[in-house]
Amino acid sequence: MKNMWIESEAKKFILDHKKIGLNQDIALRVYTSRLIGKETHLVIHGGGNTSVKTKVTDFLGHQHDVLCVKGSGWDLSTIEAKGLPALKLAPLKEARGFNEISDEDMVKFLRSNLLDPASPNPSVETLLHAFLPHKFIDHSHAAAILSLTDQSDGNNMCRDIFGKKIAIVPYIMPGFLLAKRTADVLEKNPDVEGLILQKHGLFTFGDTAKISYDRMIDLVTLAEEKIKNTSKWTPAKINIQSETLPVSSIAPFIRGACTNILSNGETDRFILDFRTSKKIQSFVNGRDLKNYGVRGVITPDHVIRTKNKYLIAPIPTIETIKPFEEALREQVEIFRENYDEYFELNNLRHGSVKKKLDSAPRVILVPTVGLFGAGRNAKEAKVAADLAEITIDTIINAERIGTYEALNEAEIFDMEYWSLEQAKLNKRKPLSLAGQVAVITGAAGTIGSKTAQLLASHGAEICLIDINETALSIVSNTINGSLPIKCDLTNDHSVSEAFRLVCLEFGGVDIVISNAGVAWESSMVDMDESLLRKSFEINFFAHQRIAKEAFHIMRKQGSGGAILFNASKQAVNPGLNFGAYGLPKATTLSLMRQYAIEGGRYGIRSNAVNADRIKSGLLTEEMIKMRATSRGVKKEEYLTSNLLGCEVTAKDVAQAFLHHALATKTTGDITTVDGGNVAAMLR
Ligand code: ZN
Repeated sequence: MKNMWIESEAKKFILDHKKIGLNQDIALRVYTSRLIGKETHLVIHGGGNTSVKTKVTDFLGHQHDVLCVKGSGWDLSTIEAKGLPALKLAPLKEARGFNEISDEDMVKFLRSNLLDPASPNPSVETLLHAFLPHKFIDHSHAAAILSLTDQSDGNNMCRDIFGKKIAIVPYIMPGFLLAKRTADVLEKNPDVEGLILQKHGLFTFGDTAKISYDRMIDLVTLAEEKIKNTSKWTPAKINIQSETLPVSSIAPFIRGACTNILSNGETDRFILDFRTSKKIQSFVNGRDLKNYGVRGVITPDHVIRTKNKYLIAPIPTIETIKPFEEALREQVEIFRENYDEYFELNNLRHGSVKKKLDSAPRVILVPTVGLFGAGRNAKEAKVAADLAEITIDTIINAERIGTYEALNEAEIFDMEYWSLEQAKLNKRKPLSLAGQVAVITGAAGTIGSKTAQLLASHGAEICLIDINETALSIVSNTINGSLPIKCDLTNDHSVSEAFRLVCLEFGGVDIVISNAGVAWESSMVDMDESLLRKSFEINFFAHQRIAKEAFHIMRKQGSGGAILFNASKQAVNPGLNFGAYGLPKATTLSLMRQYAIEGGRYGIRSNAVNADRIKSGLLTEEMIKMRATSRGVKKEEYLTSNLLGCEVTAKDVAQAFLHHALATKTTGDITTVDGGNVAAMLR
């Protein structure tokens, strides 16, 4: 592992921190914490922690000996000084005299010793950092170290490689007891450069930030060399003759199989993140995947994000006796049953007081294809997939030098159902559209963009479809993590390709806002037929193309969905010289009803929003003038000539689409957003 310390960079950190009144200790603590955080084979996604013992001055000007330790919620790769809250050191050290402290008391005790009450909670490993005497302490979950310690004779292997450089702390879950035990081990081995926490990770320390960091890199490098010098392990491959399904086709089946139907009838969906590489392929294509692939997580920290066991999907070949979907659902069912059993069994040990988490898998290994991470949102899915990638790497290396062995299930359960983690559950309130994927057409327009933004603010993952690439990227920049797709809705292939990309990015689709439209003015009698056909192409057939593609995916998922159309008021209340627009829109309204009939049995809902006089790219100043003339009203009155006497905006239309996305018992419905117009009232 490359040592990334650069003297000039370190000096720059010192200078920058001095400018904001922070000392050299803090500056270098931030610097090497980031060096560790940026190396994914050391820590990933908030894992690991670091500390420094220094002096700080409080509000009254009194100086205190403090421990600055990583605060929860911070990631080492981007940590700043405020992510290293300062705690009074003396009381922390004194706590070592206790025999036991509950986790809740420990958190309270730590908070009561913070110098700044607004600080984040200090790491749960704070006492460990406090009990060790060293000035700088670094803790990682280094993959190479885990490959050595995650073995049945991991301790001997570590002793062989590191000799007197390290001491080993037997596995204990994080908290007060681990802190005490670690300090005891160090006292018996005062000259070591680091401590290996069995099946958990590595601690290094030193008088300076550089010494502690150098030791981290050196010890990990020793482990890496041991692995490199052992002959490669390549699992024996499964034999596949028949063609496999494409990833975009597999993903909706996986999403559907993982969906939880809650006791209150609500649907709890997941977003997927797909990965593949040569390494992943060799792992998932192994004949013994069902053995080495399900032994459990490489370090207990991962269980919260990935669950202990990964799901192994059936081989997604096209020609099989049992269709992939059916075999997959069976596998997921077995996974759920095993998880429930694991919960019941271990919950008994805790007097059955634990609140059960859902039973769905978070990492799905698909032979011949790759792996999927699953999460309540795209970020969680990415984290699960990232951790799975590191896990695969670690297991491959562990098998190379020995036999991978994870922690036992009881220890994993205690981590997964740790009271501190359980407390977080009660505070978490998921957003109303969390876990759902929404596709919006005409997304670069006024109504499309406002709808996309509103759905995103309710937790949906957003796919923006439009033909105007420049406008699309502007809207996409306003929605974090959104997927912009340039698409010609009048072209079958272009629409199929758009949905393929949606499935690859998020795993499927739950909500479609078929919104794109173009308005042309002309009387029927003088109209060129080509104009009418052109209008039908975008104002009707495009809706059909979108709905059809989405319907197929939703049916694969088997967890319902909502197909929502923007049907203009023209569909029910035709205006003079607006036939080219009104006719296909009226047909689209029928289309909505047709899909409501066909989708009912699959829980796929179909609804429309009937909006009128919304200022947008379609209803321009010019168009307003023409439409006002056709309706015989003044241009100024055109937008407000409704029962409520107010202008209706794109945001109001977006609100109606949101309502339809959430109204799980409504289908075949038309919601009017026009400020009140008797002639357009549906009866
Ligand atoms: Zn740790």
